[in-house]
Amino acid sequence: LLDALSQAGEPPPLLVLAPAGAPPPALAEALHRLRPARMLYHPLDREALAREAAALLGVAAAAPQTAGAARGALGAAVAGVWQRFREPVLRRVDALEGAAMGLLEGRLDAETRRAAEREAHKLAGSVGTFGFGEASRLSREAETLLAGPGALGQADALRLADLAVAIRRELTADPAAPAGLDDEGAAAEPVREAGSPLLLIVDDDRELAERLAMEASGRGMRTVVAHGAQEARACLPRRPDAAVLGLLPADGTLELLRALGEQEPAVPTIVLAGSDDFADRVEVARHGGRGFLRKPQSPARVVDAVEPLLRRPRQRETVLAVDDDPAVLEGVRRVLAGEAEVRTLGDPLGFWETLESASPDLVLLDVDMPSVSGLELCRVLRNDPRWQSVPIVFLTARTDADTVAAVFRAGADDFVSKPFVGPELAARIRNRLERVRLQRSMAETDPLTGVANRRGSEEVLERLLRLATAQNEPFALGVVDLDLFKAVNDVRGHAAGDEVLARVGRLLQKRFRSEDVVARWGGEEFVIGMYGMDRADGVQRLAEALEVLREEKFHARGEAFSVTLSGGVADFPADGRDLASLYRAADAALYQAKAAGRDRIVPSGWRPEHGEGQRSVDVLVVEDDPAIARLLQHALETRGYRNEWVSSGETAAGLLTGDNPALRARVVLLDVDLPGLDGHGVLRRLSEARLLDRTRVIMLTVRTHEAEVVRALELGAWDHVSKPFSVPVLLQRIRRALRA
Ligand code: GH3
Ligand code: MG
Ligand code: MG
Repeated sequence: LLDALSQAGEPPPLLVLAPAGAPPPALAEALHRLRPARMLYHPLDREALAREAAALLGVAAAAPQTAGAARGALGAAVAGVWQRFREPVLRRVDALEGAAMGLLEGRLDAETRRAAEREAHKLAGSVGTFGFGEASRLSREAETLLAGPGALGQADALRLADLAVAIRRELTADPAAPAGLDDEGAAAEPVREAGSPLLLIVDDDRELAERLAMEASGRGMRTVVAHGAQEARACLPRRPDAAVLGLLPADGTLELLRALGEQEPAVPTIVLAGSDDFADRVEVARHGGRGFLRKPQSPARVVDAVEPLLRRPRQRETVLAVDDDPAVLEGVRRVLAGEAEVRTLGDPLGFWETLESASPDLVLLDVDMPSVSGLELCRVLRNDPRWQSVPIVFLTARTDADTVAAVFRAGADDFVSKPFVGPELAARIRNRLERVRLQRSMAETDPLTGVANRRGSEEVLERLLRLATAQNEPFALGVVDLDLFKAVNDVRGHAAGDEVLARVGRLLQKRFRSEDVVARWGGEEFVIGMYGMDRADGVQRLAEALEVLREEKFHARGEAFSVTLSGGVADFPADGRDLASLYRAADAALYQAKAAGRDRIVPSGWRPEHGEGQRSVDVLVVEDDPAIARLLQHALETRGYRNEWVSSGETAAGLLTGDNPALRARVVLLDVDLPGLDGHGVLRRLSEARLLDRTRVIMLTVRTHEAEVVRALELGAWDHVSKPFSVPVLLQRIRRALRA
């Protein structure tokens, strides 16, 4: 095993439990090569194991004194590992589901089968460790099934699908469930403590704080809300992983910010402030803030800004320190050794060469140096496009108001007075480096709307277009422009205009799938690239976004108002083969939309006399159980499929059939057991209306009723999925039906 691990590219930190005494030579040699992070010896001290495991994982585990508590800490450590491995483990389940799908469709090749078998084997081994005994047993069964010598049939496929569903169900049941090595289930509390990151939210605006908390927990964070500095301080012992701080009335914010920075480890903090005053930003940065957002901000944007703070990529940044005093450079090197790669330069004349070769992520400058002043270097850096945004921190003995002002005027981000105090310098630099990472993650983002900017998006759009060409897939490009937006600015004020833009950006971002590109290309113009979609798909999606936008209420100067937009959509290859020609075609269509009265989305080549057609969705869910329907709708929406839900067969048939059907659906997910007109009845009506050639029906059946499945397929159903189903499997079937 050790050999295998040493051959794996990047083995995880190893905690090795070795036999008591000197290890045998082969083991000693392997250990030497592998350099375990920790060694423990038999007989095992469980408390030590809990402590060491917790330390390796970076989770808190209080040194327990009692046997019961020791189990708790161990449970916490186990749960900590589970949190880290949950995603990869669930991907293994995906692989099993994939194999089941392949088998059902008769396209499981030997290699994929072997791969799935290996995944099942790994699942069986690992999930048991985390306390999922049943999932382990089921994985073992899946492994055995896949490992068998003969060809696999439909029955095997169904069994495998069931196994995958059951495994997933257990693994995703309840985060506190794995009892692991804890036989009394007493680990519940520590398990939660050890799991997701804890976000501290401080704001005296209770509603805002609540909304932030909801958004954060929606993204898997735990939250604690404090309504003042005092409450916030009381939360510090819970060791938050990050904090969001509104500016508090009594000006306690900066004090609190400092207190957060002094925690060990420091708590990275984003400040939400009411103004965009440069002095505020500087103050916040000087007190250790990692980010500054101006209110109002949507909770989603705030949490977006928090997320990068929680990931701690440990690749090291480079700091370049320039000072003519070798003692200072030596001090800097010592102090920052733990934070970054440090390059030092004693002769400022060699600055550019060193700058190019070091390519630093942060520059530390002395003010007074022979030949070249640090202020001068700072200014030239700020005028060079390549170095415009590198953080610059001054180390200076002069702290008089004039020098400080000159330092900031030259474009510095911060200064630390000499003689510097080690921990303070380290903390400042660490904070700066974190912000470098934060900024990098937002580098190509338009700050007002949070969507991609033109420059950032063009490259991605070009890439998608090349991919579409290579894959022979369609690609739709939409251009939308807010209607009569100049009037919004004139009547409601520029700030209200900005708020509208920000919310429109957010809305578009939300309506489109992650593989689409949403970007702001001009003042009030957005461009949306949709891979794998043609003009008609693009129009539908944008039209739906427009419908949502129409319902949004904005407020300014005590009045509510709403806005609309117009859009044009072109597609590859019909309207052009490169971005420029697609943009031209889409823009021409946009012009048509404006001319025809605004508030609409039209395809390239559209003529005004073509009126509005019927409503159309990708997927109509016909299901009488609201819980299942909501689950499905959520899954579909997340992937950008237009969908509707009806709970009765009669309604579904009524909407879809008739002389002038109200609704057109590309796929219908049809529950068999419906009150009144059941699934078979609906299917028959669709068949009689000759709709089944353009509307694919996927039946949701109870598998024990094999005869019903056969009947449904005979009636013209496209496919069937048995309940209880796994959502990813179902979505794959939907994708397939949509593509057909
Ligand atoms: P149309 O429906 O024909 O597009 O009318 P319009 O008024 O939207 O078109 P026009 O191009 O005349 O005006 C666009 C306005 O958008 C002008 C400008 O004041 C406003 N605008 C552009 N960028 C911004 C921005 O960043 N913030 C705000 N508040 N307004 C902006
Ligand atoms: Mg406009
Ligand atoms: Mg315009």
